[in-house]
Amino acid sequence: MTFITEKFLLHSETACRLYQDYAAAQPILDYHSHLPPADVAQDRRFQNLFEIALEGDHYKWRAMRANGLSERYCTGDASAKEKFMAWARTVPHTLRNPLYDWTHLELKRYFAIEEPLDETTADLIWERANSMLQHGDLTAQGILRKFDVRVLCTSDDPCDTLDHHRQINHSDCGFRMFPTFRPDKALHVSDPEAFAVWVKRLELASGTGITGLRSFLGALESRHKYFHENGCRLSDHGLDYCYASPCAETRASAIFSDARSGRSISTEDHEAFASFLMLFFGRLDAGRNWTKQLHLGALRNVNTRRQRELGADTGYDSIGGWPQAAMLSKYLDLLEQEDALPRTIIYNNNPADNYVFATAIGSFQDSRTAGKIQFGSGWWFLDQKDGIRWQLNALSSVGLLSRFIGMVTDSRSFMSFPRHEYFRRVLCNLLGGEIERGELPNDEKLIGSMIQNICFHNARNYLQLELGDPSKAG
Ligand SMILES: [Zn+2]
Repeated sequence: MTFITEKFLLHSETACRLYQDYAAAQPILDYHSHLPPADVAQDRRFQNLFEIALEGDHYKWRAMRANGLSERYCTGDASAKEKFMAWARTVPHTLRNPLYDWTHLELKRYFAIEEPLDETTADLIWERANSMLQHGDLTAQGILRKFDVRVLCTSDDPCDTLDHHRQINHSDCGFRMFPTFRPDKALHVSDPEAFAVWVKRLELASGTGITGLRSFLGALESRHKYFHENGCRLSDHGLDYCYASPCAETRASAIFSDARSGRSISTEDHEAFASFLMLFFGRLDAGRNWTKQLHLGALRNVNTRRQRELGADTGYDSIGGWPQAAMLSKYLDLLEQEDALPRTIIYNNNPADNYVFATAIGSFQDSRTAGKIQFGSGWWFLDQKDGIRWQLNALSSVGLLSRFIGMVTDSRSFMSFPRHEYFRRVLCNLLGGEIERGELPNDEKLIGSMIQNICFHNARNYLQLELGDPSKAG
């Protein structure tokens, strides 16, 4: 058997059939990504494999560092070709890491390249892929069409103009691109200098003078409305854990003024302010019938020396260990008490918390939307074989797998769309194996339609995005 055949990750005949007949042809609704909207709008043409596969990919930098390579080849000043060659030298050392699977799945699906990438094949692969990138259909938009991505949701700061989204949605490029309202910077009073800069940006974007908390909230509200008018139906927050300590407006107002005038903010005050704002954002989302996403538990920028040298988000993050259960349920509960709990997707970063998350959602379900509170797909360190299975198993065991809205790439790279295929194979393998063992009924219609729903239809129905041409919505 060779590598990445049609049966890749599919260990039974039934699993293969489920994948081929029900999963493979489903379109993609990628409702959480970090792709740059400008690249999509300008239909960026990538010049080489470095630009499309390595630029900004901290997963790969971590592997290269772990393999003893110099920083010069990760974030440093080596040429594009030198960086690619350094990556090619590293690939054979990534066996059993998802990078090994992803790299070869990507080479195969984008460039029909079957050879394993290593030092001996790197030159040929570099030339062949670059030629296809420079001359073929694999531009940013071409890639989205190739993988039948019907909707792409990006992650955007409330101050962003959304010009690129409008440009795409007024075109007939074959897909839609919607923004996601990600107001993380609004919470960061603990860094008064950066906070003041961001508030200034918000003033400009919203066209309102921000004199205190009230006008700050007004400016955020107006950006939320603006995002809505541009098709946004999702928000997102990256948090250590949920902030849910009730905080009176007078206190929040005093903290806001302190931060804005550059005074340092205590941890307690930061948490109080963040709690105040998170409840505010919850009400905004509920009011406009949006879906809120919470990415919880990543421990970021742990290496001070490297952060000083290279800046934040350069691959020095790990899984955090905060207690999630009480604060997560408290946050959902505070909103629920006001009947202001929006549809919510919670993404977990620590596998030890899978059952915590899977059970937390069960206490806040609602007859108005099936699967209203979702346990999101395996995220960051968990978007690999084991992590995907663990999430599916925890959700199945204490919730309803059938209502799950499926996978997202959560990626900064246009090479990541095969991650949907990867997820679908793991899903079909799990279900196919259980059918063969008599643990699920041999009813392919029942199981097949559940697979189709998890791959696409559940997300389409749940997110309530304006998909445009309904004949293309499947
Ligand atoms: Zn993300």
